[in-house]
Order: sequence, then structure tokens, then C-alpha cells
Amino acid sequence: MKKIEGIAASTGIAIAKVYELKAPDLSFESVTIDNPDQEIARLEEALKISRQELEKIKEHTKKEIGDEHAEIFSAHLLVLSDPELINPMKEKINSENVNAEAALDAVATMFIDMFKNMDNEYMRERAADIQDVTKRVMAHLLGAHFPDPALINEQVIVIANDLTPSDTAQLNREFVKGFATDIGGRTSHSAIMARSLEIPAVVGTKDITASVSADDTIIIDGLEGIVIVNPTDEELESYHKKQEAFAAQQAEWGKLKDEPTFSSDGEQVELVANIGTPNDVEGVLNNGGEGIGLYRTEFLYMGKSELPSEEEQYEAYKSVLEQMGDKPVVVRTLDVGGDKELSYLDLPKELNPFLGYRAIRFCLENEHVFRPQLRALLRASAHGNLKIMFPMIATLEEFRQAKALLMDEKEALKADGVKVSDDIEVGIMVEIPSTAVIARQFAKEVDFFSIGTNDLIQYTMAADRMNEQVSYLYQPYHPAILNLVNNVIEAAHKEGKWAGMCGEMAGDSIAIPILLGLGLDEFSMSATSVLPARTQILGLSKKEMSSFKEQLLSMGTAEEVVAFIKEKTE
Ligand code: PEP
Ligand code: MG
Repeated sequence: MKKIEGIAASTGIAIAKVYELKAPDLSFESVTIDNPDQEIARLEEALKISRQELEKIKEHTKKEIGDEHAEIFSAHLLVLSDPELINPMKEKINSENVNAEAALDAVATMFIDMFKNMDNEYMRERAADIQDVTKRVMAHLLGAHFPDPALINEQVIVIANDLTPSDTAQLNREFVKGFATDIGGRTSHSAIMARSLEIPAVVGTKDITASVSADDTIIIDGLEGIVIVNPTDEELESYHKKQEAFAAQQAEWGKLKDEPTFSSDGEQVELVANIGTPNDVEGVLNNGGEGIGLYRTEFLYMGKSELPSEEEQYEAYKSVLEQMGDKPVVVRTLDVGGDKELSYLDLPKELNPFLGYRAIRFCLENEHVFRPQLRALLRASAHGNLKIMFPMIATLEEFRQAKALLMDEKEALKADGVKVSDDIEVGIMVEIPSTAVIARQFAKEVDFFSIGTNDLIQYTMAADRMNEQVSYLYQPYHPAILNLVNNVIEAAHKEGKWAGMCGEMAGDSIAIPILLGLGLDEFSMSATSVLPARTQILGLSKKEMSSFKEQLLSMGTAEEVVAFIKEKTE
């Protein structure tokens, strides 16, 4: 048995076999062979298995995520059947007596280099396709395991150094019972996805990949942030009990599913949820969400080979709005960049991606990307209670510019006779300190604020949210953060606007009493946090929490804040 500590990223307990999601070692030796036919047969066999796998992944993706996302695998299949690529490999084996690995590598590298340097985006994408598929074929030639999360068909816990958002999107929740990673923090996007998939996860363990091997049994304790490798019988028994207790607790919370959210002294707040895809709406409704406080639209743009069309976006937004009926749905426009890369946009690598060309900065300069999203949103607005917000707003000019584009598209649609709602509120995420500091000026122009504490904390504390070495500085209760949050809420209320929070802090049980006291109107969190939060708020007096405000805001450390809140709420 081995116990590894990490960061609790998604609640629940999972017990299953390990599935290692790691890139295989594809190094090979180049050797001279004396039977070219045999080598060609090996190559053909590796190509055949790769094609069969890609067919399966394509079908799976089509079914689970949608036709458009499956297209990338059609492109990969075409590459694997392309005689212009395959024949030169065979010729090389025949004429130079090299092994299949060397022939595959030489020919693929030649094409990749050629396409990569072309001045045409389509051809550059083909270079990426060839690179992807050759890795798979090489793994089969070497007899190495090539991981395909989409093809998992038994109960497992995925172990990886890190999971990209698109890896996470591929996980099949029927079989993937949990995951643990070496790197990442509570607010890295893989952790956020785990919460929307409702699977237990522990991240930032530093060395989980080095501590397990395939077929080990492990326990993920997403409540405490612990992973246990090869548990003893007693541990298994105790964790089965913990699993049952957690299920019983969930059943208890479930009783409040259709209730509004009131504090013990009768003050109402709104408890809404964050989603990444239209598939997450079911989880929101099952967990008693009163609306959607953050729809991260970037997941529509990821795991694909090209931008989603306006029509595809319209269908996704409409589906969310229709499923939610008259409940509010706050959709955030594209927040790409940071840890969310879109390979087909071919953006230059940056030294500090979180401080770089992301979100609204990118959208304002790429109207061919931004305008179709705005149009899709405006068209969808006729189907429900839509609110739109812009991410990463640092200046008033950015907000004005984004809103002007929105209004421009609205006028154009209306002129064409397209139905658009006239009641769309337009707000911003407050996740950059400059905006939190001058929230008073912003409050005169926006309809609402949604505080994005995941970024607001990283920018205020100057601590990369992806880096577990500085995760101790991710301090939601730090008085600097509380003062900024308070400033935003006060500014909103002064102008008769509402203030919400969609960063992870909104669902945090220590932060909730503080935020209630500061007057936060809307709390948006992972769907699974909604019912525990409702239960907690039922037991808190808003008046009492407000009476602590000045004391909390003048404290010196997060530790003091936590000790104070624990004492007052126990
Ligand atoms: C945030 O920054 O708090 C937020 C909600 O946005 P994201 O986590 O998607 O950056
Ligand atoms: Mg953010």
C-alpha cells in the first residue's frame, strides 16, 4: 500500500484498476534487414490495426461528442490510406533494406517538414495529422501501448502526468471512475472538467505516474485529495464504507433539489452552475441548479480541426437555453489561450500564455472568429433567458468595443428579420485586478458582474494557477481577494446591478459564509456543489455574516480569516 497526497479536485470516492494515459516511448533502432517482404508485411499490419482503432474512435466520437468532432479522425484515416505516403515507405524498405520503423520515420518526417513550411493553413494541418497518425503506427510496430481514452471499455481510474481539456472531454464517464494527475491545481481545466463529469479526481500529486503500474488497484479519495495505491483489505473496506456514507449524504442533499435558496434569516440568493457543454445541463438540473452562471463556450472549439460554424454554435446555445426553460443562462464568449490551445489557429507560442493573447484580446482582433459567435448567441436568444458576458476584460475600452460588435450584429440580424431577444443582459467577468479596482466605473456600463476568482486570484497573487509548486498562493480567503470581491459587489449594488461569482471560490464552504455576508447575489459553481451549498446557506444568517464584514476585510492573513469563519460557523 502507498498513500499519495494531492489536491482534491472533484468529490467522491472511486476504486478501480489503473489506466495509464501516457505517451509511449517511440524510440527505435534503425537496422538493415534481409527480408523486405516480411518488413512490408509488418508495416501493413501496423497500418491495418491503426486504421481499425481510428474507425472505432471516430464512431465513438461521433456518438458521444458529435459529427464535427469526428471529422479529425476521418482526416487521419485518409492519411493512413494515402498511397503517396505509404508507397514511398515500402519503396524505401525494398531499395534500402531498412526496417519498417526507419522507413516510416524517414518518409513521415519528410512530408511533415514539407507541409509544415507551406504558406497554407490547410497543408500545415495535414502535417499535424501525419505526425499524429505516424505515432500510432510506430507504437504498433514497436509493440508499445498507445493510449486511447475514448476506447476504454472497463472500469478504470485514469492516471496521467496531466490531462488536456480535450483528453478529458474524450473520457467515457461510464467506465472512467476517476482520475489522478501529477500536475495541476483545483482550478486547472482538467479539474473543472472532472467536476462537470462528476467523477472523483485528485490532481497535483507530483509523482502519481511514477508510483503506479498498469493493473494496480487504486483508490481516489476526491474528498480529502488522497490516492491509495494497492490498498490493503482493511483500507478497501473502510473506503467502501466511506463511499456508502457519501452516497447517503448525497441522498440527503437531494431533498433540497427543487427548493429555492434562502439563508436562515430569509434572504434569497441564486445558486447556479458552471457548464462546458450542452451535455452538462442534465447534471445541473439533477443537482438543483437554478440556472447556468457560466457556460464555457471554448469547449465547442476544442478537439476539432477547424472553427465551429455559426450554425453548430447556434444549435449548442439553443439546446442549452431550451433545456433550461426560463432559468437564466449566462454564456461566456470564447476564452481561448492560457491552458486552452486551439491547434488549428496556429497561434505563436508565448512565454506567459496566461498573461498573453487570450480571450477578449484575441476575439477583438479576430472578428472573423468573434462575430459568428455573437450572431449564433443572438439568434439563440429567442429560445430562452440568455445573458452574455465577456471574459478577461481589463479595460473599459475592451468592454465598449466588444459590446459595440454585439450591437452591430444585433442590428444586422434584426434588419434581416431574424428574431433576437431585446432583454439580453450584457456583463463581464471580473478576473483581472484592474477591473476589480475600478468596478465602480464599470458598473455604470455593464448589466452585471461575474467574478472569476480562478484568474483573479492568480493575477492578484501572481501565482500561476497551473503550477502546483505555487498552489499555496491560491488563497481565496486572502484579505486582498476579499477586498477586491467586496469592491465589485458594492460597486454593482450602488448602480442597481447584480454581482455573481463563477470562479471555484463560489462553491467553497469556507468562502460561502463570507460571500453571503458581502452580499453576493449569485453563486455559480460545479453542479455537484449546488446542493451542499444550499444546505449550508440554509443554516447561515446573512445578517450575522454581514456583521463580520469590516473585521474580515481588515485582517492580515488568509489563516486569520479561516480561523475566524470556522469559529463563527461551527
Ligand atoms: C475564472 O477565471 O474564475 C473563471 C471562471 O474562468 P476560467 O476558470 O474558465 O478561466
Ligand atoms: Mg478565467
